[in-house]
Amino acid sequence: MQQMICAVTLALGLLAGTSVHAADTTIPDKAVHTAEQLRDRALKDPVAWQFTRDLTTEIGPRLAGGPNDERAREWVIQRFKALGFDKVWTEPVTYPKWVRRHESGAIVAPFPQPLVLSALGYSAATPEGGLTAEVVRFKNLDALKNADPAAVKGRIVYIGERMHRFRDGRDYAIGSSIRTAGPPLAAAKGAAAYLLRSAGTDAHQRIAHTGVTGFRDPAKAIPAAALSNPDADQLERILGYGKPVKVHLDIDVGIEGQYTGANVIAQLNGAKHPEQVVAIGGHLDSWDPGTGAIDDAAGVAIATAAAHLIAQLPERPARSIRVIAFANEEMGLWGARAYAKAHAKEVTEHVIGTESDLGAGKIWRMSASVKPSARKAIEQMAAVLEPLGVAYDADRPGWGGSDLSQMHAAGMAGLSLSQDATHYFDWHHTANDTLDKINRDELGQNVAVYAAVAWMAAQAKGDFGSAPGAFGKEKNGE
Ligand code: ZN
Ligand code: ZN
Repeated sequence: MQQMICAVTLALGLLAGTSVHAADTTIPDKAVHTAEQLRDRALKDPVAWQFTRDLTTEIGPRLAGGPNDERAREWVIQRFKALGFDKVWTEPVTYPKWVRRHESGAIVAPFPQPLVLSALGYSAATPEGGLTAEVVRFKNLDALKNADPAAVKGRIVYIGERMHRFRDGRDYAIGSSIRTAGPPLAAAKGAAAYLLRSAGTDAHQRIAHTGVTGFRDPAKAIPAAALSNPDADQLERILGYGKPVKVHLDIDVGIEGQYTGANVIAQLNGAKHPEQVVAIGGHLDSWDPGTGAIDDAAGVAIATAAAHLIAQLPERPARSIRVIAFANEEMGLWGARAYAKAHAKEVTEHVIGTESDLGAGKIWRMSASVKPSARKAIEQMAAVLEPLGVAYDADRPGWGGSDLSQMHAAGMAGLSLSQDATHYFDWHHTANDTLDKINRDELGQNVAVYAAVAWMAAQAKGDFGSAPGAFGKEKNGE
């Protein structure tokens, strides 16, 4: 492996030697060398695993605004301090606090039987004692959009479009839009409630995948829930009999005022340009049924461990490396939006950013949104990552990941380090999002990628093109 790495580095050096212009952003040879060492060290580094294990064990579920929100914040502050960051601080994030108290559902006609479901974020409660209504099925979101409100009014809308497994997790675009856009659409047409087939790729678990809806005004919300995949199959079989199908829902959830949590931030201060920041991170909150291991304790852990490895070097990076544990990503990027607002004047200083929020599977692809004269530096990064099985796709944008997409939209250069998401959506937002789904070697490969990339970005001669309005117009890469 070492031999191959050297050959790749050499080849790139020769290549670069023929075509680099003075104005190009490049990574100095010494920094490339250090990045290779960081990469190799990261594969055996225990910090990310310990972080993920301890957070999911000592805190467990971290529903935004819930009882574990503050405990998780305190926990991560302590861990950041223990790991020796130069600076640890919090920035407030305020949002409506949604709570889940009770949820149940059953088919009452023609074949009475219980259903496994999970209420969705910002869902409204059913009236005292629940509600019973006839189910009306739509093939997909477009069919609901085109539906006559008379066919929807007073009924329980159901959409059953199924997600399939892909390495890039592309079907989540379908599942998540049915979950977010569907409920407000059904509510606007007068629906009594909304059900969907879980936005998940597992076929045999009688476990529902929760997640947020697009309800923004609680006064316009209706009860909304996801059925497990086998329960969705069952409902569809029963609908196939052609008789009216009635469902009873008893859902006690809702908004309990405003809550102020915080983004927790740790930084290694840059030795030369402390005001310039390489931003990495994940989100600290999770859904409540699981312990939020793959979504997204792993993401915060990967960024933390990468920065910690860099902190072990004899010298500090030229630029600052900032690890952000975002608050409340799950219910609508609240921490991300607060961060982008608080740092709106520092877009140029955020030289590049990338967030880990697609589990802990191996990173297989890198893409970037940078200025053309920084492409050489990205190619140098790609050469260091190549032995880890990461392919560079020069034609795809790099949107920075879920929370950092907000800074990217403001003009920050972005990288996408795509994880293998083949099985991510089997467990995502369910009670099965637990530590056992994480492979320690794959987690280590993620840390290797983040450590190498963060170091090279911090040491690069020249910038990546961050400036207000410079990026964010392209379509998301995921
Ligand atoms: Zn996430
Ligand atoms: Zn999530």
